[in-house]
Amino acid sequence: MPASLRPLSFAPITLLSTRQLSPDVVHLTFALQPHESLHSLSFDLGLGDFIRIKPPGVARGRAYSPTSHQSTLGFFSITVKVYPSGAVSQYLSNMKPHDTVPIAGPLPVPWLTKKLATGHTTTLIVALGIGITESLLCCQSELLAGRTVKLLYSVKTESDLILLPELAVLMKQHPDTFTMHTTLTRAGGDRPGPALFLKLFASLLALPPAAVAVLVVGTKEMNRVVYGHLNELKLNKRLLGMAFRAPWGRRHSPLHENCVTSSTTSMTENETAGC
Ligand SMILES: Cc1cc2nc3c(=O)[nH]c(=O)nc-3n(C[C@H](O)[C@H](O)[C@H](O)COP(=O)(O)OP(=O)(O)OC[C@H]3O[C@@H](n4cnc5c(N)ncnc54)[C@H](O)[C@@H]3O)c2cc1C
Repeated sequence: MPASLRPLSFAPITLLSTRQLSPDVVHLTFALQPHESLHSLSFDLGLGDFIRIKPPGVARGRAYSPTSHQSTLGFFSITVKVYPSGAVSQYLSNMKPHDTVPIAGPLPVPWLTKKLATGHTTTLIVALGIGITESLLCCQSELLAGRTVKLLYSVKTESDLILLPELAVLMKQHPDTFTMHTTLTRAGGDRPGPALFLKLFASLLALPPAAVAVLVVGTKEMNRVVYGHLNELKLNKRLLGMAFRAPWGRRHSPLHENCVTSSTTSMTENETAGC
């Protein structure tokens, strides 16, 4: 019987399969108990919940955002960018089916949570590189809340674009409310940087700033730069903010509320899945 995920301690979780998505991005699927889903284990991916993986010999674990449907029973998946000298990403990319690795989750720790902004009609999500993992489920959650979602997905080159089938499903399910723009920051050898795509976005977004909540998902440094530009555009309502979890029950995003625990489908397998 596979071990259960727990938020405050690491349990050995079994790898079921791996799939190479691009030269340096790998998709890994791990086992849960047959009756368990991330949803039943209290994950809410619409709030940016994540797992922490701590292979032997790595002092601190690393965070990863699951990219599978949170009500899938019996397994979950993550999508990992593999860095040449990355301790954990290299370890994960070398794992074989049936290997185990210590994983804890859901995180943030149980007494903290991310709370969602309210009162906005449009959500701007800026996914920088592998930040698309967390962005994907946040997009879905915001769409389920009935909001218009504009995703700006920025990568270095075309081969870095991943999770396109999952994003295509969202576009099909929400043709009037979901739009995606991709930018290639190193196409043709130039590196225009975030200013260019924010300028592009500002021209697309003819809305009062107060109606727009924003989420930027990337490295700390890139987030700082992009939020700086967004602040200049007066787009400074953050979609997710950290808060103490009190009372315990009040933390569900629309994604969580719409979960069907009996579902065994993934977003790509069933385009009509409700969450
Ligand atoms: C909430 C959260 C969710 C995350 N979700 C995901 C996810 O779903 N998928 C995913 O792939 N990652 C995700 N990350 C990043 C992940 O936690 C690790 O930081 C990443 O895998 C690198 O760890 P590593 O041990 O392989 O590299 P490290 O051993 O930490 O770094 C070694 C070297 O790798 C390179 N490197 C590491 N990180 C970066 C970077 N971001 N940009 C450029 N070079 C880098 C640098 O050269 C660095 O010196 C997430 C992070 C957070 C905070």
